Amino acid sequence: MFTSRVLLSVSLSLFLATASALPKEQLFARDSSTNRCGASFGGLKCTEIAGAYQCCSQYNYCGDTTGHCGVGCQPLYGKCNSASSSSSKTTTTTTSKPSTTPTTTPTTTPTTTPTTSTTSTASTTSTSKSTTSTSKTTTSTSKTSSTTPSITARSKPGSVPYGPAIYDCDKPGYIALTYDDGPWIYTSALLDTLQRLNTKVTFFVTGNNLDKGAIDDPNSPWRAVIARAYSDGHQIASHTWDHLDLNTLNEANRRWQMTRLETALISITPTYMRPPYISCGGACENTMAALGYHTIIWDLDTDDYNNDDPSLIENSKRNIRNALAGHQVSSTDWLSIAHDIHEQTVVNLTEYQINYDISQGYKHVRLGDCLNDPEANWYRTP
Ligand SMILES: [Zn+2]
Repeated sequence: MFTSRVLLSVSLSLFLATASALPKEQLFARDSSTNRCGASFGGLKCTEIAGAYQCCSQYNYCGDTTGHCGVGCQPLYGKCNSASSSSSKTTTTTTSKPSTTPTTTPTTTPTTTPTTSTTSTASTTSTSKSTTSTSKTTTSTSKTSSTTPSITARSKPGSVPYGPAIYDCDKPGYIALTYDDGPWIYTSALLDTLQRLNTKVTFFVTGNNLDKGAIDDPNSPWRAVIARAYSDGHQIASHTWDHLDLNTLNEANRRWQMTRLETALISITPTYMRPPYISCGGACENTMAALGYHTIIWDLDTDDYNNDDPSLIENSKRNIRNALAGHQVSSTDWLSIAHDIHEQTVVNLTEYQINYDISQGYKHVRLGDCLNDPEANWYRTP
C-alpha cells in the first residue's frame, strides 16, 4: 500500500559524511592507495602528496575529475573546483524508513560527460510518497523545454506516476528485491542464485561506474550480463550512466545521464529509475517526468554496502528481520534495496533474505509487478 511515511530531511553534509564510510567500494576507485586523503587518512592533503590542483573526493581519493572535485569535495584536504563544488548544497529528503544512506562511489567521469553545475536554490523537497502530481509533471515539461533540447514527448502508460518519488510497493504480501550499481563481477553469480531459487528481482543498472568502463564498449562484458538478467526474467531499470548526484547537474546533463544509458541498452529502454544517493529534488523529478521515468526509492534498506564482510553481514540480515517484524503479511509489502556489487550480498545475504521472506509468508516479485504495472509498461520503444 502507499502508506504514509514520516519525512526526514537530512543535510547533504551528513549524507556525504555517511557516504565517506563506504568500506568496500573504495577498492574500486581509480586512484592508487598513495593518493588517499582526508581525516580518515591522517589528514593528508592532496596538494602535499599529488601536486597542485588535486581535489580530495568525498571518498578520500585525490584527483581532478568531476567525480573528485564535484559534490562532496573536501576543501580541507585539497583544492575544490568552485565551479563544481557543493559545500553549500541543499538538503536531501527521504523517508524515515530508509536509512538515508547513499549507495556507491561515483568514480570515474568520462571525458564526454557534460560538466556539472551547482544549483544554489536546489533545496530538494520531495513531498510524501504521494503519487499524484500530474499537474506538476505538465508544468515541468513546459518549463524545461525552453532551456534544453526538446525531446520527443514520451508516452506515459499505466497508472504508476511518472516523476515523483515512489517509496514502496502496492501489493500486500509481496516483496520486490532490487539490486543497484551493477553489473559487476558478482552479478553473474547472483543470477545463478536467483535462478536456483526461482526468484525474479529488479536490477538498477549503471552505464559506467566503478571504473568498469562503458557497458557498450565492444570489449565490455557487462552488457551481456544485463542481457542475461533480462532474458532470465528479471526487470531492468536505470540507475543512470555515471552514478552522479542528479541534483548537482543542470537539466541538459541530467537528461544526458538518462539517455546515455538508454543508448547503451539498445533493445530495452527502462521506464523505471532509481536516483543515485536517492538524490532527486523537484527539478530532477520534473526531468524524470519529462523523460517518462518512474522515480523509485525503497522502504527496506538492507544496508548491505556497510556490511560487506562475513563478520558484518549479519547486520543486514537483522535489518531485514527487524523490518518485517510486527507487520502482517496480508497488509504489508516491501521494496528492498541491496547491491550486486558486493560479495557478501551475492554469496550470503540474498539467499538468506529470500528464504527468510518466504518463511514469513511473503512472495517475491519484480518491481513493476509490485506496483501492479503491466510488464508492457516497464520499457518503452526507443
Ligand atoms: Zn547506486
